[in-house]
Amino acid sequence: PAMTLSIPFDNSYAALPDALYSRLDPTPVARPELMAWNAPLGDALGIARADDATLARVFSGSEVPRGAAPLAQIYAGHQFGQFNPQLGDGRALLLGEVIDRTGRRRDIQLKGSGPTPYSRMGDGRAWLGPVLREYLVSEAMHAMGVPTTRALAAVRTGETVLREAPLPGAVLTRVASSHIRVGTFQIFAARRDATALEALYAHTVERHYPDATDPGDLLDRVIARQAALVAQWMSVGFIHGVMNTDNTTLSGETIDYGPCAFLDAYHPDTVFSSIDRFGRYGYANQADVIVWNMAQLATALLPLMPDPEAAVEPFTRQVHAMPDRIRAEWERRFAAKIGIAEPLAGDAALVTDLLTRMQANQADFTTTFRGLLTGTARDAFTDRSAFDDWATGWRARLADEDAPEDLMARSNPAFIPRNHRIEEAITAAVAGDDAPFHRLREVLARPYEDQPEAADLARTPLPEERVAATFC
Ligand code: AMP
Ligand code: MG
Ligand code: MG
Repeated sequence: PAMTLSIPFDNSYAALPDALYSRLDPTPVARPELMAWNAPLGDALGIARADDATLARVFSGSEVPRGAAPLAQIYAGHQFGQFNPQLGDGRALLLGEVIDRTGRRRDIQLKGSGPTPYSRMGDGRAWLGPVLREYLVSEAMHAMGVPTTRALAAVRTGETVLREAPLPGAVLTRVASSHIRVGTFQIFAARRDATALEALYAHTVERHYPDATDPGDLLDRVIARQAALVAQWMSVGFIHGVMNTDNTTLSGETIDYGPCAFLDAYHPDTVFSSIDRFGRYGYANQADVIVWNMAQLATALLPLMPDPEAAVEPFTRQVHAMPDRIRAEWERRFAAKIGIAEPLAGDAALVTDLLTRMQANQADFTTTFRGLLTGTARDAFTDRSAFDDWATGWRARLADEDAPEDLMARSNPAFIPRNHRIEEAITAAVAGDDAPFHRLREVLARPYEDQPEAADLARTPLPEERVAATFC
């Protein structure tokens, strides 16, 4: 007899007003086959150990475990600046919530689990490529210390998904501190549904910001977390790729890994996403876009204020103050990368000077910064004297610092999920060889450790390996 899986569900979103979601079950798949299971995360969530076949059935949506309350969440969002009044989980379902071992409420969501009332023209499915990319990148971000959703499982469906070509289908299980997005607030503000908006607000405050005193205070706290998050993305060379307001969380976690990528050679205008034709979500633009997204959150929070019109001015001031907060976070993160614990006047200029030289010399972002620690940074420059000139002033500045090596070692990853290695792992997995995926996964779990046996995964792409565009 088949085992059943025990998950200690404790669902709260399903108790909110009906306007916030649609209840439905996932669509079973043909031949669920477990590809990856994140055992430490499963343990932390209190999920009982089970055999692969059981995990595959549950985390493909083929069997709904006891206590689950599957639902598709509704939301709206600005997509590339255009307001779409109704989006929602078109290929995802919240299975339910658990309280994890540390007492934190976590969502367990299936992505690729079949059509929902919000699927529009989509098939509700995902193919193996994006599932593996999200698995690898979200877990690598977590290991680097970046707030993010997590990956619990990847399951092959045994079904074919039609994209540009027929491709193998898969389901990803994503874990998040919640899936509440800027767009979740936007939809009820746009609909003037005060009941739903107030219920969402109360739920968000209780769940993420229990000390928040009013909507303006909530806005302030979300701005603080998002300012810190985007600065941290930039400090590891991460480009999200689709920073639509429906892909921006209230929790401050990174969410929705689509055509995301990491910088190879440093250039502030770098764009990988094939759907980002105008570079709206390019590397350095992320700092501006998040401010714009917080302005949309501010607008959606206004109706919650007793006198919305009077709140426009203070909310506007909060949004206008955000760039300085991002800059402060950015300076702290990048100062740490060059070994400076408390940035002083002039340190930001030292960082900027390095970045300018890196840009002019097509220096790889990750190897340059890690190389500051190992003495190999200059090798990343076409003109080594450009680095040497900078390094003279830098070494003089470091004489005042206590333990710059320790700080640099935990601020500069040796291993990032390089785009060409992800593509390589996906290509192998499509052909039935999961070994490159599992190897990447293991190496990326310890990004700040030198792992000499994995030097091939640290090196920069050869010209013929370079990935120019990513697709979702
Ligand atoms: P994303 O670009 O991944 O943030 O998705 C934007 C919207 O499109 C969300 O509402 C998704 O649920 C929906 N969507 C994306 N792919 C599919 C699909 N294959 N089937 C149905 N809906 C989808
Ligand atoms: Mg999305
Ligand atoms: Mg998505």
